[in-house]
Amino acid sequence: MEDPRNRLLTWCETDLDALRENLATFRSLLPASARLLLVVKANAYGHGLSLIGRRACELGADWLGVHLLEEAVELRAARWSGRILVMGYIPRRRLAEAAEYDLDFTVYDPETVAELDRLGRRRGAPLRCHLKLETGTYRQGVGEEELEAYLDRFAAAAGSRLAGVSTHFANIEDTTDHSYARLQLERFRRMVVRVTQRYPEALPHAACSAAILVMPETGFALGRVGIGAYGIWPSRETLASSVGRGAEGVRLRPALAWKARVAQVKWVAAGASIGYGCTHRTTRRTRLAVVPVGYADGYDRRFSNLAHILLPGGRARVVGRVCMNLFMADATDLGGVEAEDVAVLLGRRDEDEVRAADLSAIAQTIPYEILCRISPAIPRLPVDGAGRLVAE
Ligand SMILES: *Cc1c(COP(=O)(O)O)cnc(C)c1O
Repeated sequence: MEDPRNRLLTWCETDLDALRENLATFRSLLPASARLLLVVKANAYGHGLSLIGRRACELGADWLGVHLLEEAVELRAARWSGRILVMGYIPRRRLAEAAEYDLDFTVYDPETVAELDRLGRRRGAPLRCHLKLETGTYRQGVGEEELEAYLDRFAAAAGSRLAGVSTHFANIEDTTDHSYARLQLERFRRMVVRVTQRYPEALPHAACSAAILVMPETGFALGRVGIGAYGIWPSRETLASSVGRGAEGVRLRPALAWKARVAQVKWVAAGASIGYGCTHRTTRRTRLAVVPVGYADGYDRRFSNLAHILLPGGRARVVGRVCMNLFMADATDLGGVEAEDVAVLLGRRDEDEVRAADLSAIAQTIPYEILCRISPAIPRLPVDGAGRLVAE
């Protein structure tokens, strides 16, 4: 079979070996009895939702976590039969549809709880709810003062079951000072005691990647791992804080590479203005490589004149503004780059690497945003650790 990459202008490669190793690392940091949930919202942080869904079992995930009902439906179509936690809101009018997919629901409002109970009764099988607790992020969740009323609702419910209680940390990856996270953890623990007195089978869960890396005591019954499973440290602060916290020496391997086929290579004279706005002027005769990727594909316009790509002879800097579907790079110092050569926009080539953190520093954002904004329309291909295509 012909390698599909030969026919593509741009594609992403998802390294299944890296994912498997990273997940094993997180499993080793969780309590032995805890389950491992892989967060796959936002097209699995750009890695391909269906691609991951089809292989989540062999990769070592016990549960998958999504934001949208649509993502859960896509995972079922990819034949993932394990647990799926929907972490986002589902419009009330779609709860009946959602009840068909054997999901775990995050709940934090009485209307959703009542509707799920009604639907569960009608089906004759209770639907699984995870009550989101407000501990200080003020995003989703029910406060300590409302807790008892919610617990009473589940006591009277034949159509729903309290399967879990959860919270989410506000400030664990942004700082090396974890006093706010500890305050949230104390509030969570206090509420979990009240929940499990009445519902001993409800699973407590709180930890994202950074929490598992720097506060292993947040592991509870289930770790919800996103960015770390994809091989990326949540932040430099997390890396610094991990020292001496049980995560020392943890190695994470980035799973995503973004590549493109050079569309043209040409010489331009000294003094030429490159691209829209004439923001780069050549100071010497310059060999330009034109790469058919732009901001419409998720290659941020802020990378203009700043980011680097990896070409066969080495690094090349982006010159001029990133356009909607194209950008230019200076390949003058690289011997013999040719049209149709493969450019690495993100990921490794030989001993060099463009990391999501390099690009996020340029765009003044976080690696999460770099990954999840790579257009879902770009094909995702599963590869092994050596970059060989893995058959479907
Ligand atoms: C996205 C998300 C996570 C995963 O966070 P990472 O920092 O990527 O590990 C965990 N829990 C919830 C509720 C989330 O929304």
